[in-house]
Amino acid sequence: MKVGILGGGQLARMLVEAGTPLGLDFTIVDPKADACAAGMGRFIHADYTDPDALDCLAACDRVTCDFENVPADALAVIDDRVAVRPSAAALAAAQDRLSEKDRFTRLGMETPGYAEVNSRTDLQAAVEALGLPAVVKTRRMGYDGKGQMVLRDAEDLELAWRKLGEYPLIVEQWVAFDHECSITAVRSGDGELRCWPVSRTWHRDGILRLAASLSVAESRQRAAERLIRTLAEDLDYVGCLTLELFAVGDRLLANEFAPRVHNSAHWTIEGAVCSQFENHLRAVCGLPLGATEARGASVMVNFIGRMPAPCPWLELPDLHWHDYGKSAREGRKVGHATLCAPDAEALKSMLPRLDGLLDSDLLRELDSALGAT
Ligand code: AMP
Repeated sequence: MKVGILGGGQLARMLVEAGTPLGLDFTIVDPKADACAAGMGRFIHADYTDPDALDCLAACDRVTCDFENVPADALAVIDDRVAVRPSAAALAAAQDRLSEKDRFTRLGMETPGYAEVNSRTDLQAAVEALGLPAVVKTRRMGYDGKGQMVLRDAEDLELAWRKLGEYPLIVEQWVAFDHECSITAVRSGDGELRCWPVSRTWHRDGILRLAASLSVAESRQRAAERLIRTLAEDLDYVGCLTLELFAVGDRLLANEFAPRVHNSAHWTIEGAVCSQFENHLRAVCGLPLGATEARGASVMVNFIGRMPAPCPWLELPDLHWHDYGKSAREGRKVGHATLCAPDAEALKSMLPRLDGLLDSDLLRELDSALGAT
């Protein structure tokens, strides 16, 4: 079966790695000549709206995306010629933070208080209604903490307006969460839905640094599953979907969702029976879904900016290295490593050996999260 992918980043690369043993044949389109999936499958170096590139995608059996901000024009051209999974409508639903939050509200999913902002007066009114601290975000095209600014006191409003005022904005209440987590599910074309265990996540400057599959309470797992099922069914979703959550006491507040494979579930490559990448392709291609159980406990460390040397870390017996082959650049995700263990206790006992691979504050937080399981 031929699968076209719009976007040639590391997610496309890992999709190809997972799909090749299934016998799938890939065509990737990306406007960057040095896209990190460029060496995988058939690579078309072209703009997303290039008619010839879109013709090549339309000749595939299925088309999927490795990012959500795919231009609507590109999908409109191929939508009636090839099965696009997830659908153009599901992608569009994640492109605007305001409609995303409105959807959560309509579905009865708790989300941080928010307000639409289109003027300096709106910004003032939003902050008066929601209180400080708050966070102002561009409604579109923001990712990895880009296009956002935290508002701590009244002076920050002017600064934020100067920096972001030219865009349509949303202001959200700042949530003093206990921790962040996310849940990833895969849904097939006939509506079967399977969830991986909840991932605990740690961000710094808006960028994911660590994601861990620990054993969470059954009630927490069920609550997260109910939320993602509600969302996936509302979107009539096909493929992998991730819902990012803030945990506050017993409550789970929806932050945002990603209509694609997601960084917080990279641990599933080695740490689950079937990975998010393989299951995404299974769903997209109409194949039976694989099991989503974790094999034990695992933690994934993101490498941001530049890759560390692989030694001595490769000496750890169940550590798996992923170098995306990207050049070094500040704030850029260039690779990750996943450390697996039979259970949380065994994983905790391995943590001192990660000293130097990740910041000591993250290591401490991970250690205490493992202690709490
Ligand atoms: P986002 O791009 O919206 O997922 O934001 C990136 C990260 O910034 C989140 O994972 C949180 O760590 C932090 N963040 C974003 N919005 C909020 C909020 N309303 N309250 C607290 N932290 C937030």
